[in-house]
Amino acid sequence: MPKKSSSSKKEKMNLAFYWAASCGGCEIAVLDIDEKILDIAAIADISFWPVAIDTKYADVQAMKDKEIDVCFFNGAIRTEEQEQMAFLLRKKSKILVAFGACSVHGGIPGLANVANRKEVFATAYLDNPSTENPEKIVPETKVKVKEGTLTLPEFFDTVKSLDQTVDVDYYLHGCPPTPDQIMTAVNAIVENKLPPKGSVIGPLKSVCDECRFEKSEKKITKIKRVYEVDKIEEKCLLEQGIICLGPATRGGCDARCLDANMPCTGCGGPTPQSLDQGAKMIASLAGILGVEGEEGMSEEEINKLIEDIVDPIGTFYKYTLPTSIINRKVIKK
Ligand code: SF4
Ligand code: SF4
Ligand code: SF4
Repeated sequence: MPKKSSSSKKEKMNLAFYWAASCGGCEIAVLDIDEKILDIAAIADISFWPVAIDTKYADVQAMKDKEIDVCFFNGAIRTEEQEQMAFLLRKKSKILVAFGACSVHGGIPGLANVANRKEVFATAYLDNPSTENPEKIVPETKVKVKEGTLTLPEFFDTVKSLDQTVDVDYYLHGCPPTPDQIMTAVNAIVENKLPPKGSVIGPLKSVCDECRFEKSEKKITKIKRVYEVDKIEEKCLLEQGIICLGPATRGGCDARCLDANMPCTGCGGPTPQSLDQGAKMIASLAGILGVEGEEGMSEEEINKLIEDIVDPIGTFYKYTLPTSIINRKVIKK
């Protein structure tokens, strides 16, 4: 564990970073702040960061309660080990920040809430073309080998956000948060200008407010995927029939996907005015989907129109399923 120099012992903050059910992108995002990491190093020691420094769980267990000033916790809670680390880091940290969409809302790992553990294991270890597993072995929490018993953390049926597990002080949204968002949070902490507990450290506006595309009265009759559009025009993607979650998504990313002519997929989570990002987007879409003679349409025709929305859960709840109103599919075990 890094030691504090005697000259800076009093002034320096003590930071920790942890990853739970995470792709690692949030860890890379911390490094994406480039040379500003040196500014952070000047004001803080990092006492726990499994991806970057050789620290052990025992090091955290040995700390006094609240010894860590700020812990940035990325990733969702998917396993018993991640849950225990959430409890431990909560106890050892003055401020716990849910860092990134997976921690804030369950994120992409949270899409597994359309299934349960048995189905996830079947897809990962049994029923897929690239896996050869004739003995149909799936992970067990205890396995006896000649040297003794091996243990693995329990893999939960349901993915949770960090705040569905422990008390969270602040939220930093995005998949991953941008370098600017990270530095805004760090500066707010350093300057002691944090918003009230429970706040998202980010703007109140939506992605549409940051988007360069021209907006006008929208009415569309057909939903298209990006590859079905020959040339993206300089007007709102929704008006071009492409589902863009900008109206339902909190900004702060400078609409960076739109700069690449790609629709917003919603990683900023719901806008402050909405409880459920997917429901808000479905309502927005329903309002602009103009269908001639809608009343006279058969159920089959309506179903055909809805079928144009490929993967509705993945489209509307890509990052927020565990914290949405209907947050999982109920499955008989
Ligand atoms: S929020 Fe995005 S970048 Fe961060 S761990 Fe989750 S999937 Fe990866
Ligand atoms: S819906 Fe998408 S393309 Fe249209 S203004 Fe909002 S962010 Fe931009
Ligand atoms: S445009 Fe949407 S998906 Fe892209 S970074 Fe911003 S919030 Fe995330």
